[in-house]
Amino acid sequence: MRLILLGPPGAGKGTQAAFLVDNYKIKQLSTGDMLRAAVAAESEVGLKVKGVLERGELVSDELIVSLIADRIEQDDCANGFILDGFPRTIAQADALGELLNSKSMGLDAVVQLAVDEGKLLERIEKRARESAEVRSDDNAEALKKRLAVYREQTAPLIEYYGERGMLKTVDGMQAVDKVASDIEAILKAV
Ligand code: ADP
Repeated sequence: MRLILLGPPGAGKGTQAAFLVDNYKIKQLSTGDMLRAAVAAESEVGLKVKGVLERGELVSDELIVSLIADRIEQDDCANGFILDGFPRTIAQADALGELLNSKSMGLDAVVQLAVDEGKLLERIEKRARESAEVRSDDNAEALKKRLAVYREQTAPLIEYYGERGMLKTVDGMQAVDKVASDIEAILKAV
């Protein structure tokens, strides 16, 4: 099973990915987590992207595509994977398409978590208050930037995958388990 979870910051991608990891024994590949780990480790990549992350901007397509290209080849992805936070631009989606083609891998579905944008700031602020680990980009300014970047660069992927007949939409404003069961029903059908 190979999937993309698509949705703005705060849509619940991480929460749903965790269920899917358990149910399907596939790997969650969160580019945000990968980049935060690189920053924490102060690796070369980490030092390069730290400021970008803090401002809520996107790191370069090239960097993120090479990160994913290396990752999906590893043994723990043999059963499949959930892409969470990638692709985030049309260029990344094109690159992913080529990458998967070159490995004769298909995508099973692109699951969009549709949410009421007006509620997102509230959700993310709540997460920031309740989470033990404070994210350097969960402040008002970076949040506004992340949402704006989503609207401009990532939301066009809804149409991109829609045109390719791959998009499945779930109402992400429902209770967490209802969202999970809706996703499960979709995946049963693909
Ligand atoms: P969010 O909660 O905003 O969905 P993520 O944890 O997915 O955040 O990502 C955090 C940050 O990591 C982004 O704001 C961006 O700077 C960087 N990032 C993550 N994935 C990508 C990507 N596919 N392309 C470019 N930058 C990315």
